[in-house]
Amino acid sequence: MTVRPILQVGDPLLRQRSREVSREELASAQVQQLIDDLIDTMRDANGAGIAAPQVGELLRITTIEVNDNPRYPYKPRIPLTIVVNPVIEPLDAGQFEGGQFEGGQFDNLEGCLSVPNMRGLVPRWVSVRVRYLDRDGNEHDTVKRGLTAGTFQHECDHLDGVLFLDRVRDTRSLTTWDNYERFHRDAFVSEISEFVRRVGS
Ligand code: ZN
Repeated sequence: MTVRPILQVGDPLLRQRSREVSREELASAQVQQLIDDLIDTMRDANGAGIAAPQVGELLRITTIEVNDNPRYPYKPRIPLTIVVNPVIEPLDAGQFEGGQFEGGQFDNLEGCLSVPNMRGLVPRWVSVRVRYLDRDGNEHDTVKRGLTAGTFQHECDHLDGVLFLDRVRDTRSLTTWDNYERFHRDAFVSEISEFVRRVGS
């Protein structure tokens, strides 16, 4: 098991565009080891996902997994997913049974392993199409919704050097994790749980 140091906001590597991974590279021992390291590092930090640039490797690879996550107990489960060279696009203006979200977006209270002790409200597409390769080079073309769609958008942003901080629309929503627990958790969890019930994942 290899847990790698996670780069923190201010590190210029977090602000660069990562490059595509060729199929040959993806099959290489080095890249397969990097994927194992990302999984170990994500799990060690209780992240819902981690992207290769967060450990200083500028490749378009991210890992995503949500089980019983102490950082995000309200998130629906996501089985371990290795996402290589993702292409992500918003779908259908966020329609769901019985309605539609204004502009197809919802407000997600995000945090990031590269942004210590900070969370903030970020608009995310309710529904996205994601095309990517898994670690074996198999092609996937899938639709993600709700909080799971939000997690995919957050991780794919890292591959373009974008942090959730850049997308916070109202900086007054920023909060430390302690103050989230103290002042914001109950309202956010009840709101987001209703959202998850309506749109699924
Ligand atoms: Zn992040």
